[in-house]
Amino acid sequence: RLSERLPYGQDDEFGKLAQVFNATFARLEASFERLRRFTSDASHELRTPLTAIRSVGEVGLQKGQDAAALREVIASMLEEADRLTELVDSLLTLSRAESGTLQLKPEPTELGVLAAEVVECLEVLAEEKEQSLVLEANQAVLADIDRATLRQALMNILDNAVKYSPEGTRITIRTAVAAGKAALEVQDSGPGIAEEHIAKVFERFYRIDSARSREVGGTGLGLAIARWAVELNGGQISVDSEPGKGCTFRITLPLGRL
Ligand code: ADP
Repeated sequence: RLSERLPYGQDDEFGKLAQVFNATFARLEASFERLRRFTSDASHELRTPLTAIRSVGEVGLQKGQDAAALREVIASMLEEADRLTELVDSLLTLSRAESGTLQLKPEPTELGVLAAEVVECLEVLAEEKEQSLVLEANQAVLADIDRATLRQALMNILDNAVKYSPEGTRITIRTAVAAGKAALEVQDSGPGIAEEHIAKVFERFYRIDSARSREVGGTGLGLAIARWAVELNGGQISVDSEPGKGCTFRITLPLGRL
């Protein structure tokens, strides 16, 4: 077993070697444990839509020839299949993240332009909830970033703001230069996040309210991917919240030069 460490007492070369072995074993053990947890969480998450597809299919078989009812069953199976696809895509992104094989292409980027692209992608979803997405980009903010990964991070954060905030509310996306850094903020007036969850929401599969998250189509991986993408670009991600009043996600990045 890996956890059985080599005993050492002396300060000679054998003693030092034993220390190196023990430290390596401990790291291996921790990484096996992470892998084991990830596999078990992922299997659990994959099972949920699969179970739904199965049970909806069984209901469909009982419906016999009723065409309208069968249509409904098929639509609901397709919805679950979409969720499964989204989950598998996210798992692939994370596994690529883990293996470090992703090729980054850092380019000088105006964050307001990037934010405008993301806002455009989510405009339709926000309109369905009569929410307004307001972009405040009053000055050019440049950062040297890999656009694809950072776009994904911002997309996940803004998508959450839309998903978790009530109808008719306003979501503000801001770019700024603050304390010598390039900053991107997404502020919503949704339920917010209580203190005890703040640090954990960036963990894989962590959800504050599982039922609510599933209902709005969440995979529990969005913020883990966002954090990975931001850190890969040399930045940091954090969230402030006043529960009941909303939350503000903040990304800071090293400022780029003109
Ligand atoms: P999910 O797919 O469940 O949305 P995420 O990793 O994107 O997973 O987010 C993790 C959890 O953090 C969510 O399940 C939700 O409970 C909480 N959360 C994320 N964004 C917000 C937000 N803007 N307002 C309130 N809660 C949020």
